[in-house]
Amino acid sequence: MTILVKIADLDLSDKTVLIREDYNVPIKDGKVSSDVRIRATLPTLKEVLESGAKIILVSHLGRPVAGEYNEAYSLEPVAKSLSEFLGMDVPLIKDWTNGIDMTNHQVVLCENVRFEKGETKNDDELARKMAQLCQVYINDAFATAHRAQASTHGVAKYAAISAAGPLLINELKALTKALREPAKPLVAIVGGAKVSSKLTILESLSEKVDQLIVGGGIVNTFLKAAGYEVGKSLYEAELVDVASKLMKQAEENGCQIPLPIDVICGKEFDETTAAVTKSVNDVEADDMIMDVGPETSKQLDAMLAKAKTIVWNGPLGVFEFDQFSQGTKNLANAIATSKAYSIAGGGDTIAAISKFKVEDKISYISTGGGAFLEFLEGKKLPAIAILEEAARAWAAMERAREL
Ligand code: AMP
Repeated sequence: MTILVKIADLDLSDKTVLIREDYNVPIKDGKVSSDVRIRATLPTLKEVLESGAKIILVSHLGRPVAGEYNEAYSLEPVAKSLSEFLGMDVPLIKDWTNGIDMTNHQVVLCENVRFEKGETKNDDELARKMAQLCQVYINDAFATAHRAQASTHGVAKYAAISAAGPLLINELKALTKALREPAKPLVAIVGGAKVSSKLTILESLSEKVDQLIVGGGIVNTFLKAAGYEVGKSLYEAELVDVASKLMKQAEENGCQIPLPIDVICGKEFDETTAAVTKSVNDVEADDMIMDVGPETSKQLDAMLAKAKTIVWNGPLGVFEFDQFSQGTKNLANAIATSKAYSIAGGGDTIAAISKFKVEDKISYISTGGGAFLEFLEGKKLPAIAILEEAARAWAAMERAREL
C-alpha cells in the first residue's frame, strides 16, 4: 500500500483544512437528485470537525467554461444539502480564491472550482492561492485522481501539509487488494464497445490475471482474430492483428482468454430486432452479435465460481436492449453469488449493476470512472503520486522534529 499522510496522523485542532471532495452530483430543477456522493463524504467531514478544525470544501460540478459563472453549474444545491446533513449552515462562497473569513468549527463550500481559470490547466498561481487558504490540504476525491488539476494536484505542491482523506484511502485499498495483491485465481471481465478504448487495460490485465473474459463489441474483434465470421457486428478491423497478438501473449503469460461458444444475434441494431441464439460457428454475413449465449454463460459461471478475486468493467452485450441483456445479467448474478472478492467500476458497469440490482453483493463498487480505468491500466494517478511525494516530505519533517 502506498504511503500517505492520513487524518489520524495529524493534529487538526484549530487548523483550517481545505478538503477536495467530489460533489459532481446530478442536479434537477435546482436540487440534488442523487445525494450518494454527498452522503459518502459525511464521515470525513465529521471526523475533521470533531478534531476541532474549520473546513473549506472544494469540488467541481460538470464541465463549465472556465472564467465564467454559470448558474447551471453552481454548487448552491450541494451547499443546501450539506447544511441539512450536517445540521449547520454551510455557506457557499462565490469569491474565495483570495481568502475566506471564517469562524471556528465552521464548514464552507467554495463555488465550483472549474469556474476558476486555471483549474483544469493545473495553473500554479491558482494552486498557490488554494494552498494559502489552509494549513492542511486533504484530497478525498478518488474520481478525479487521474487528473492533474489545480485542486487535485497543484495545491498539494504548495500546501504546508497534504494528506489523503478516508474515501480516497478506502478506494485505493480496495483496488490494491484486487489488482496488486489479489487472491488467486484472479478473473477479469472487460466488456464494452471497443477494443481501442480499452487496449491498455486488456494488455495490462493479460499480464496479471488467470482468466481474461472479453465481451461486448470487444469480443467480436477477438472472434474475428480467431477466424470466426462476425457478419455486421461491431468490431474493429484495424485491431484484429492486435487482438491476435494479445491472445498469443496472454497464453505465454499463462492467462486464458476464453471465447464464446454461442452468441445472440440480431439483424438490426435496435430495440425491436429479433434475438436469435446461435453457435459461434453459425454466424451469418448479415448477423450482428449483440450478446453471449446461454452455453457461454454457463462456462463463465463455472470460471467465476472458482475465482478468488474478480474485477469487472464493461457489459457483455447490448444490455440496454432487453433481448440482449441476459449475458450481462447472468454475469452480474454470477459475480454476486461468488465468494470471491469482487470489484467493479465504470459508467456502464455501474448502470448494469443497478439495473440487475446486485449493488449489495459486489464487494466494492469503484466511484471513479476514468480513475478506475487508469488504475486498471496500471497507471500511476497524478493526484496520488503528488500525495505520496508530500507524505515523504512530511515524514522527513517529522523525523527532523524528533531529533
Ligand atoms: P463501454 O463504454 O466501452 O464500456 O461500452 C458500453 C457500451 O457497449 C454499451 O452501451 C453497450 O450497449 C455496448 N455494447 C456492448 N456489446 C455490444 C455489441 N456486441 N455490439 C455493439 N455494442 C455493444
